[in-house]
Amino acid sequence: MPDLLDLEAPDGPAGRMMHVSAAVQHQPGAPTSVEDVLLEPPRANEVLVRVAAAGVCHSDLHLADGHLGAGRFPIVLGHEGAGVVEAVGAGVDHVAPGDHVAFCFVPGCLACRSCRAGRFNLCETAAAHSLTGTLLDGTSRLHLSDGEALRHFLLVSCFAERCVVPAAAAVAIPPELSLWEASLLGCGVVTGVGAVRNAARVAVGESVCVVGCGGIGLQIVAAARLVGAGTIIAVERDSAKLELALARGATHAVDPSQGDPAAAVLALSPGGVDHAFEAVGSPATIRLTWDVLRPGATGIIVGIAPIGTEVSLPALEFLSEKGLKGCYYGSANAAVELGMLARLVADGSFPVADVVSDFTDLAGIDEAFERLRRGQGARTVVVLDPELAGVP
Ligand SMILES: [Zn+2]
Ligand SMILES: [Zn+2]
Repeated sequence: MPDLLDLEAPDGPAGRMMHVSAAVQHQPGAPTSVEDVLLEPPRANEVLVRVAAAGVCHSDLHLADGHLGAGRFPIVLGHEGAGVVEAVGAGVDHVAPGDHVAFCFVPGCLACRSCRAGRFNLCETAAAHSLTGTLLDGTSRLHLSDGEALRHFLLVSCFAERCVVPAAAAVAIPPELSLWEASLLGCGVVTGVGAVRNAARVAVGESVCVVGCGGIGLQIVAAARLVGAGTIIAVERDSAKLELALARGATHAVDPSQGDPAAAVLALSPGGVDHAFEAVGSPATIRLTWDVLRPGATGIIVGIAPIGTEVSLPALEFLSEKGLKGCYYGSANAAVELGMLARLVADGSFPVADVVSDFTDLAGIDEAFERLRRGQGARTVVVLDPELAGVP
């Protein structure tokens, strides 16, 4: 455990340790604790951001519940958010203090094998540090008030008033875009739109089925509409989310509690759909995604399953050349996609505001987690600074 003397960042810019209010997850399954933590100033190639708003995603809950493995605590969660740059470390020239930014939680290192192959979302360097809860130099800028190191989550940790992130994780966005809307871009919007555009490459008129219409699934539905899909079938248990899916462009709604969902989808799209997306992360919904595919089609698995989850498939059906493919963070360069999508949202061509079901503050994260566990509400936005966030 480092003592406070170790915390003077030797290569950092002028600046002192900051006290910031943050939601700390001390143990898996425990309630989050809103407390004063210590944040170091940004070092070289890092950016200090004052957080305006942050979305609560199922991945935060998975980690909080211990579903992503042990050895990840204590940690400050939050990986989807937006705010204003307050300071930059040496070598940062793409943003400056005062710029509005949204977070990209896989900042491609450009040097690893995945990055060199153009698969920036699979950056091995970012993945390794995400697992250890450090920034890209292998250390943490976050500490509990007694000096004990705190882990970062996905290089972001935006359930806090301020955060220090790798330079490439701070993506400039148009200042006219409200920061509470921008807070949704970095996970839900990039992931959902990327699944449709980059992983599935849905073409005009093709049929689509979306299994699970939470924060990600609703973006998949809207993206399918954006690219001109024909039939768009939304499968979701929660009636409010199903209504929202219809409002965002789904042509048909299937409630799996009202009968066999696979039969219902196949009745709407005889022979199966051209593209099926899974945005839940459970064996039953992955199997459903497989069962609704037409021969030759590929299901895109976006949902994150708890560690140890296994799926079984009728192997004979590989004869029909069906497939399943994983999709992580939009299957492209998320930072580039994020900037492009921010402009679409800012000019009104891709509205995202309707997916927000609840606003809360740091103290309300546990209730937001509880809603996610119950499958209620599409997205909660944690507002750190209402004025900065531009909350209506
Ligand atoms: Zn997420
Ligand atoms: Zn890389």
